[in-house]
Amino acid sequence: MPFEPVGPGDPTALLPWMDDMGPAMAGPTQPTITQQMKDKANWRVLTQSPPPSHNQLQEVVLPPEIVKSLDHAARATNINGKEHGGNIVREGGDYSAIDTTDETSNDSVFWPDRSKTDGKDFVGGYHTHVVDKKTTENTTFSEADMTQLLEDGHNIEVMRAGNSTKMLARTKEFEAIMNKAENLDDLGHEMEDAYNAAYAAALDGDLQRAAKDPKEHERATEAAVIATATKYKLMYFAGDRNVMRRRGPGAKPAAPKTTYVPPTIIR
Ligand SMILES: [Zn+2]
Repeated sequence: MPFEPVGPGDPTALLPWMDDMGPAMAGPTQPTITQQMKDKANWRVLTQSPPPSHNQLQEVVLPPEIVKSLDHAARATNINGKEHGGNIVREGGDYSAIDTTDETSNDSVFWPDRSKTDGKDFVGGYHTHVVDKKTTENTTFSEADMTQLLEDGHNIEVMRAGNSTKMLARTKEFEAIMNKAENLDDLGHEMEDAYNAAYAAALDGDLQRAAKDPKEHERATEAAVIATATKYKLMYFAGDRNVMRRRGPGAKPAAPKTTYVPPTIIR
């Protein structure tokens, strides 16, 4: 869609960088400039050190460059049934994603390679989950996905499945837990234990139920992510390709979208 410059007086006009936001941003819910600035600020706050407090943010909008990379990774996953992923990096105020997928690997699981940053600042990782007959877009983070946030500089982890995106973010409180821990490996094991205990509890201890019914597995993993995020004060977001809202700990009911201006109807 070509970008049509508009007069400076139109506050609802698309900015050039909004041009790539895709259909989710088009139509009657074009964000105002104030909203766009808030969105950019939220993303910046989540990817900086030190991170924000766990109760600070309710919504995050992904930068268009990152959405594009996630779209690309999701398409590749759809084609070959393998997880794709890489590193989210920052240079100045610009964010980009570096795909580090090993296409020669027969493993359908993505193994990160944090050494590839193109000399930019590493702020987090991203990866896809496969959507197939068993796994829907409700799929969420595994215990191994969650403990990646213990890595150096790993402020956020973004996961894309089909057209849905989920994100975990570090908080001031989580970093305080990290600083208190004598050994981060031990803390990682504790987080995995908390995750697995919540997963089992969600199934009343009957793990076979999840093995037989993929819906039960997805319900139990969601419960496990929320329990682990609650215990370790991580922020958990879920949404579509662009916009995610808080889920689980700290989530407030969505406010009416008064900040979005509907287009004028011409009769
Ligand atoms: Zn994963």
